[in-house]
Amino acid sequence: MFVDEVDIQVSAGDGGRGCLSFRREKFVPRGGPDGGDGGNGGSVYLVSSAHLNTLVQLKFNRQFRAQRGQHGQGSSCTGRTGHDLELEVPVGTIVYDNRTGETVRLADLAEVGQRVRVARGGRGGRGNENFTTSINRAPRRVEAGEPGEVRRLRLKLKLLADVGLVGFPNVGKSTLIARVSAANPKIADYPFTTLTPHLGVVTLSDERSFVVADIPGLIKGAHLGHGLGHQFLSHLERTKVLVHLIDLSSADSRDPIEDFETIRRELTLFPTDNTVDRQASLLVDKPQIVAANKTDVLDDEERLKRLVVYFETQAIPFYAISAVTGNGVAVLLEAIWKALITGSSNHKGARAPIADQ
Ligand code: GDP
Ligand code: MG
Repeated sequence: MFVDEVDIQVSAGDGGRGCLSFRREKFVPRGGPDGGDGGNGGSVYLVSSAHLNTLVQLKFNRQFRAQRGQHGQGSSCTGRTGHDLELEVPVGTIVYDNRTGETVRLADLAEVGQRVRVARGGRGGRGNENFTTSINRAPRRVEAGEPGEVRRLRLKLKLLADVGLVGFPNVGKSTLIARVSAANPKIADYPFTTLTPHLGVVTLSDERSFVVADIPGLIKGAHLGHGLGHQFLSHLERTKVLVHLIDLSSADSRDPIEDFETIRRELTLFPTDNTVDRQASLLVDKPQIVAANKTDVLDDEERLKRLVVYFETQAIPFYAISAVTGNGVAVLLEAIWKALITGSSNHKGARAPIADQ
């Protein structure tokens, strides 16, 4: 299951009733009203935590209730405020109002430690001491506490991808994802809209699988929000490895090196907030792998040679593939896997896995 989902009901606490009371004391006749206010009911909050990675803990008990406020008391005592209820959810949880389906998004807990109120506690009612007027010195009026808010919520956990696939439009990102996740019938059933990246699960063997996100819409100026760039770049923040796809064919006469540099500049300029999310690091500091696609239509060997030299001088691992024929794809996937488990794309380095030596 790629999208974890649970429907819950949250009820905030009711406000306490205001008190009806009169001061009774020896030698103080007609002491006047002294009924205190009811306490406010507790609210329900969702708090995002980095320690959870599923919503399953909310599935056993789907009703969550914050404490009610206590009733007001005599001698002008206000009732105690009900305790708030905090429910921990994993980072990446999106909150919808269940009555309206998934059209109304209440919150998106995309960062660690976010706290959002999903049901507001009822206000306490006023006690009779509040209703004294010049003509009514002994009011018998009190207010009931406000009911706490009750809400039905649908929580969805966005799957976070391990690998972000970046590249200009038409370099073959979608084709590659379709190819590498085709062997697995569980191709991400993530709804495609222009706002969500496409996800694919790549399975190399039983224990070795990872999730790739096709990040569309990267263009020059993306870090400034051009072309929905901001949303897409922020999807990359929690990926562990970036794969740049570039186009080897001369079909649309763009220069693959220029394309690569443009995208790398966007990654450098995109501000990530390390103080909020410890997992996020500068996009450009993530391990990167370059794949030059469309070897099947390569008409000029020089184009490929030039790229090999360029990426060698940049010390960036480079692979030539064809997403259509599958040529070179298996080797690329192994390199991605190694980068994932070692946290580095440079496998000649000291961090290469022991099993590999
Ligand atoms: P995206 O915009 O990066 O997702 O690119 P697409 O996957 O939609 O591919 C754009 C075009 O390039 C499509 O017409 C694909 O058929 C074509 N294409 C993708 N990969 C290859 C390849 O390896 N060889 C060839 N010849 N064409 C490819
Ligand atoms: Mg595409």
